[in-house]
Amino acid sequence: MAENIVKIKSLVKRYGELIALDHLDLEIKQGEVFGLLGPNGSGKTTTINCLLSLLAYDKGSIQIFGKEMSPTAYDIKKDIGVIMQNVAVFDELNVFENIDYFCGLYITDKAERKKCVEEAIQFVGLEDFRKYRPKKLSGGLLRRLNIACGIAHKPKLIILDEPTVAVDPQSRNKILEGIEELNRNGATIIYTSHYMEEVEQICTRIAIMDKGRKIAEGTKEELKAMTKNTETIKVGLHELPDEVMKEISALPHVYSTDHTDSTLTVACSGGRHNLIRVLEVLQKHELHIGKVTTEQPTLNDVFLEITGKALRDKED
Ligand code: ADP
Ligand code: MG
Repeated sequence: MAENIVKIKSLVKRYGELIALDHLDLEIKQGEVFGLLGPNGSGKTTTINCLLSLLAYDKGSIQIFGKEMSPTAYDIKKDIGVIMQNVAVFDELNVFENIDYFCGLYITDKAERKKCVEEAIQFVGLEDFRKYRPKKLSGGLLRRLNIACGIAHKPKLIILDEPTVAVDPQSRNKILEGIEELNRNGATIIYTSHYMEEVEQICTRIAIMDKGRKIAEGTKEELKAMTKNTETIKVGLHELPDEVMKEISALPHVYSTDHTDSTLTVACSGGRHNLIRVLEVLQKHELHIGKVTTEQPTLNDVFLEITGKALRDKED
């Protein structure tokens, strides 16, 4: 069993009347890419700020690397890398100097630091921009600089708070691939986002948050298994005799069937090989099959089923 890197117990944070974190429990184990997924205002950044002791909280406890976290726990802090939601770099320093500054807070040996800074520059792909000031970088490149500043000292725990917001697709892919590589190289990752596709792509375990509470947790497969509907199969089919429909309805995991507008729709809950079973029945009866599609549930379906609302607006 991998050891606990982070253990948050019953964390409560109030801003006046507002309960930003409502008895939040989280356990993050070594080697995980842990995703905190939730809409804007659900409490992701507040969680990170409490975790880092940047923010005082009302109740609960936080342990990192098996030790009590506090504002003066420097031995813990030196092994954490933080990439905050709002880019924080110095406008007066160029790319190299910025990374060197942040790395210098942890690594004082000059030769060792130079090596780390160079590695970080290569890691985020900013080789051609070493001398650039932040103001001359695009949004995506600026994010990459922000990440390089947070990881140059090779921390064991890396926390990234929405690092892909307002980033072009190329930088976005670079960032997501970079996070997976950092994880392969041994770092434990905490990744917050309101983009379910990203969280699904890179996270080994996910906590879904809403209104300061953890409403669900698990691997993406476990989360999707929480929704009744796990697969919707559609088959173009002009005629469908009653006895064939009965046979399909009786297949394992099938919980609803419908045949309208020359389309057979089969909703399945759980199970594998649902599509194959449906097609086998149709073939056995020598029916002419048209277009076949299947739709898997998304984390948005999970969020919708638990909270009754969508994770985010379509235009977001
Ligand atoms: P997220 O990062 O998931 O978007 P936040 O942690 O930033 O969410 O915010 C959680 C809730 O706390 C929101 O309702 C937000 O408006 C509120 N909040 C955050 N920071 C403050 C603050 N400094 N003062 C008052 N309310 C705040
Ligand atoms: Mg936030």
